[in-house]
Amino acid sequence: MQIIIHRGTHQIGGCVTEIRSQKGTRIAIDIGKNLPSMYKKENIELDVAGLTNNSEKPFDAVIITHYHGDHIGLYNKILKEIPIYIGDVSKEIYKIIQESLEFANIIPKKDLEIIKEFKTYKIPNKLKINDILITPIEVDHSAFNAHMLKIECDGKTLLHTGDFRLHGQRGKSVIPALEKYVGKVDCLICEGTTLSREKEPTLTEFQLQNKAQQIFKDNKYNFVFCSCTNIDRLAALKEASIKAGRLFVCDIIQAKILDYIDSIARSDYYKFQGKYKKYSNKIISDMTKKGFVMPIRNNNFSRKIMQMFPESKFIYSNWLGYLNPEFEEYKTLQELVPNDYIYLHTSGHADLESIKMVCETIEPEVIIPIHSEQPEVFKTIRIKK
Ligand SMILES: [Zn+2]
Ligand SMILES: [Zn+2]
Repeated sequence: MQIIIHRGTHQIGGCVTEIRSQKGTRIAIDIGKNLPSMYKKENIELDVAGLTNNSEKPFDAVIITHYHGDHIGLYNKILKEIPIYIGDVSKEIYKIIQESLEFANIIPKKDLEIIKEFKTYKIPNKLKINDILITPIEVDHSAFNAHMLKIECDGKTLLHTGDFRLHGQRGKSVIPALEKYVGKVDCLICEGTTLSREKEPTLTEFQLQNKAQQIFKDNKYNFVFCSCTNIDRLAALKEASIKAGRLFVCDIIQAKILDYIDSIARSDYYKFQGKYKKYSNKIISDMTKKGFVMPIRNNNFSRKIMQMFPESKFIYSNWLGYLNPEFEEYKTLQELVPNDYIYLHTSGHADLESIKMVCETIEPEVIIPIHSEQPEVFKTIRIKK
């Protein structure tokens, strides 16, 4: 088993990992776009022989861990003959978003056609690409249906964590799943996003929900800036909103995503139908009377609604880095967020303690850090055997 990290050893996002078997099977795990904050540094176009150009035998497959752009964003640069695999739920969520972008002429129709052709995987089914066996393990992350991937070939076992955390609502199931489906491995490729970012103790998603409930009780009109695909955050906001007696109001795209989640969710926590109101002029008087919580994003529609309720509270529920004026790519967002916002967020990524727990569970001989600006912190991990 040969491992080549084409990109991602000293940066957050934009990761591309190649696994090659002795017989010559080649797969890529994730084909991420660099995050905008990195554009100012040298933004070298990803070019991998056999993956983005045909100067070598093409890869046999690309496996995407989850739908965040820094893991899937370069899907349209991959050679057409290479099949792209993604979790079945991830594909649907990604398609809803990209359809709305295609409708707004932000992405071309041909890109949407590629997405429709994505092949899917679903736990607990394994995926076999020639002599490489892949076992997906669903994990907790700020993207729904995110996966770690166990890779087996040439008598060796590797675990690629993708992006994950243990402090969300589904975090408790991650370690037992690793015990059941992974066991000991030869190599761990592990994300380390929070090692340079987070200085505060980690808030659980449930603690965040309780804080949100208090904010919504204290304030009648609430706009929450958060990602429309961060399903765990939206479920927490929905619950907090209902308990605080406010209407939970969503725009059309958000409603489409939540309706889809509702159709596949097994737990009540992820049931949204009947618990949110779709925004329209008809519900404005209800919103005014009962008060509301509305997730919003960086677009003109959100801007217009915010202006209709100037006395609202604005809750910022995303990574604070986006508000750093040095990141010019987020200028319109920075202009949208009022100065007196309430910050209410917890990371979608594992803290050091959680990374150590994963290491102690699967006892890797070798650890390769990716998706991190401080990979050297991994040297402090000592695995008790
Ligand atoms: Zn990522
Ligand atoms: Zn992610």
